[in-house]
Order: sequence, then C-alpha cells, then structure tokens
Amino acid sequence: MTLLSYLAGLTMVPHKTPVLFQYLFPQYLWKKKTEEKVIYLTFDDGPIPEVTPWVLACLKRYRAKATFFCVGDNVRKYPDIFQMILSNGHTVGNHTYHHFNGKTTSDEKYLESVRQCDDEFNKHQVKSDLFRPPYGRIKASQRKALPDREIIMWSVLSKDYLKTLNPAKILKASIEATEKGSIIVFHDNLKAYSNLSQVLPEYLEYFHQLGYRFHSL
Ligand SMILES: [Zn+2]
Repeated sequence: MTLLSYLAGLTMVPHKTPVLFQYLFPQYLWKKKTEEKVIYLTFDDGPIPEVTPWVLACLKRYRAKATFFCVGDNVRKYPDIFQMILSNGHTVGNHTYHHFNGKTTSDEKYLESVRQCDDEFNKHQVKSDLFRPPYGRIKASQRKALPDREIIMWSVLSKDYLKTLNPAKILKASIEATEKGSIIVFHDNLKAYSNLSQVLPEYLEYFHQLGYRFHSL
C-alpha cells in the first residue's frame, strides 16, 4: 500500500494535499507553479443532467474555465451534456469508463476502462491526454501502461461529497487550502450536489473578489 492510498483511506484526509506527496510522486501533477492569481478548477464524475448544467451556469457568471474529468459511461448516457461542457470552452479529461479504483482492479480491466472512456470522447471528436484516476488510486503498473497521459491529482480536496461536513465548513477549509496555482477538486455528482450547490458560488465569488482567475488545465 502506498502512502497516498493509505492517507486517502483515512477519514481525516486533509483538504490540502501535503507537500510531501509532490516529492514522493513527482510524476503526477498536484498543482501548478505560478506567481499569478490563478486557480485550476476540476470537476469529477459527470456529466449528469442534474448537476453539470448548473455547474456550467455558475462558471459562466465568472468567465471561469474548468477541467471536467468525465466518467465514460456518463458521456455515453448524456452526450448532450458532454457537448455542453465542450461548447462552453472547458477542457475534459478521462476518469475511466466505470469509475474503477485502480488499486482493486486488474491492470487489464483498468486499462480497458480507460480505453472505453477514450472511445466515448472519440465519438465527439475529442482527444484528451489528461487522466485522473478515480479516488486518486492507481498502481504503478497501470501508470506505466499509460505513458502518454498527464496524470492530474490535486492540491485541494473540497470534500464536497462528505455528508458529515456542512457547506460552511467545506467552504472555509477549501478557501484556506487554496493558493496560487492550486488544483481543486469538486464533484458534479449527485452525492456532492447538496454541498456543491452552496459552496461553489461562494468559492468563486470569494476568489473573484481577490482578483483570481479560474483556468482549465
Ligand atoms: Zn471520481
């Protein structure tokens, strides 16, 4: 078990990814080095009609660009919502077809799921080199089998999916963990929506007021 998977399994996972990880796993992108007031927003697990269009409308208000790590099966089910992400000028990345946990999935099954997600993207004439392993869990053997991918982790985990945290707590912790060049994870899934719907507008407004811009990867 790697240190990352060990820590990710703890309930007390910090909102801010320990800097140590960037040294232990330099092959992954955790944040971008910049002196500019830029935040990289990422949304995992969509696209779904119940949440993704709402996220897109929020982003539009701030002319914010984001990266959506899409589950291939959702792209298949909701091609119009996927198309909506693209037509709004956002970037998409592969999040496997089945939302597999790499640590508990055979390499063969895992890599097939990555390919299947690519296939769904291809139907929209989209090719993406960006890959985010679901749960941040991937075996070294799987990573090595995906040499042309840029593996995107995060420096801020909003924990919007945690029912035990209220929106005010999530907002405060996410703001405190954010710095220039941060990559923050939100989720356009049903589990996160009750928190996300309150946290995202406030988070965007807070950093907008401070002069930050929101970019895709
Ligand atoms: Zn996910």
